[in-house]
Amino acid sequence: MSTFDQYEVWFVTGAQLLYGGDAVIAVDAHSNEMVKGLNESGKLPVKVVYKGTVNSSKEVLDTFKAANNDEKCIGVITWMHTFSPAKMWIHGLQQLKKPLLHLHTQFNKEIPWDTMDMDFMNLNQSAHGDREFGHICTRMRIRRKVVVGYWKDEETQRKIAVWMRVCAAWADAQDMLIIRFGDQMNNVAVTDGDKVEAEQRMGYHVDYCPASELMAYHSQVKDADVDALVATYFQEYDHDVELEDKSTEAYQKVWNSAKAELALRAILKAKGAKGFTTNFDDLGQDDGSHFDQIPGLASQRLMAEGYGFGAEGDWKSAALYRTVWVMNQGLPNGCSFLEDYTLNFDGDRSAILQAHMLEVCPLIAAKKPRLEVHFLGIGIRKSQTARLVFTSKVGTGCTATVVDLGNRFRLIVNDVECIEPKPLPKLPVASALWIPQPNFEVGAGAWILAGGTHHSCFSYDLSAEYWEDYAEIAGIEMVHIGKGTTIEDFKKELRTNEVYYMLNKALC
Ligand code: MN
Repeated sequence: MSTFDQYEVWFVTGAQLLYGGDAVIAVDAHSNEMVKGLNESGKLPVKVVYKGTVNSSKEVLDTFKAANNDEKCIGVITWMHTFSPAKMWIHGLQQLKKPLLHLHTQFNKEIPWDTMDMDFMNLNQSAHGDREFGHICTRMRIRRKVVVGYWKDEETQRKIAVWMRVCAAWADAQDMLIIRFGDQMNNVAVTDGDKVEAEQRMGYHVDYCPASELMAYHSQVKDADVDALVATYFQEYDHDVELEDKSTEAYQKVWNSAKAELALRAILKAKGAKGFTTNFDDLGQDDGSHFDQIPGLASQRLMAEGYGFGAEGDWKSAALYRTVWVMNQGLPNGCSFLEDYTLNFDGDRSAILQAHMLEVCPLIAAKKPRLEVHFLGIGIRKSQTARLVFTSKVGTGCTATVVDLGNRFRLIVNDVECIEPKPLPKLPVASALWIPQPNFEVGAGAWILAGGTHHSCFSYDLSAEYWEDYAEIAGIEMVHIGKGTTIEDFKKELRTNEVYYMLNKALC
């Protein structure tokens, strides 16, 4: 079953009764055919449900209230077949809590030049009605996506599909629980922030869970289950055959990693959590059940399964990664939490090595990951530990982060190009190497000026359009660093936004 099967998007057509009963029947028939066509296109991840034509203020209000209260409904598409006087939308729009997409299209593709009469023109007047509807949305400061195009065109359907994926991730975030095993890494600014405001603005809830509670689950893990998971690892990943020798320390370390994974999955399931953070300084007490190092392999595999993850207590990244994973479902190239580590100055190929101590999601691997055990000398327990080693696919993608600026959240998005790295024989971790767009100098410079983290949530399949839709729904600031970015204009944008958000208190 796809993540999207549980959801639906409502389609509401605007009209009025001025044109008589025949027009109402025609509007309804056309709407039905459009919704059927959209569903049968195979391009939309979420089912569209036609909710009828609304002809009055009362009908709009009733429909939008029903949308608010329907758990399956993750968004509403509106389209004005005829003229729909927009005062009748005011009360409904005041109530609507679900994401809105205004589709500016028309039932018939071309004007029937030889036969068009006044009746036909009155019936097919989206050009007229969609402007009236757009006006009231703008006047009421209603956040929405406007998609313009013929409803059968692939590009129109692609834009609706993008928005649907964002709506699904948004719905998913509204009951998202993120568990922090341990606190933030001490003294780190960018991974900290206002959890109360995050819940108001983006929906997710963040709880602390002491490592001792996690260790209660760890001590309950059955040896037979660990053995079975270790066998799965050996099946799924390339590895040295010596690693399977049960008498070695390396085998024991793989076994310990599998036990950590089972403990984490068990507590996340028990709490109904969709994501988690870890901290390498908080791994359980020496004299009780404990992890022998950060659960790196577990984090890699849980990320691939869809759990949000942020390192060093970074709950904002954990939540954002889960959102990326939901949006990315069914798309081919994958996503991961990543961290900016080391720069490689090389002229116009200057790039940033993305890695983490261990925690990179195998969904972005170029080929089958390799299971290896090596020493990791960071954190409260320095020890040999298992991890998946791989390099990422080559290709373009998009990375994103959310930072707390004190008076608001800022979503920072950067298009990147993943390039082929050289071998790293002394650094056995998963990694990606990318050139931030438009180039290293401007990309990294703009990111730093925007206050961006060293952690981000990356996908090959998502583009800035997804993030634009996300920021619109959440009502948060977004800055996009891409092909056309210049430092001069970017600084102007940051300054203008500062004033905009200061004046627009509702968004702060
Ligand atoms: Mn980090």
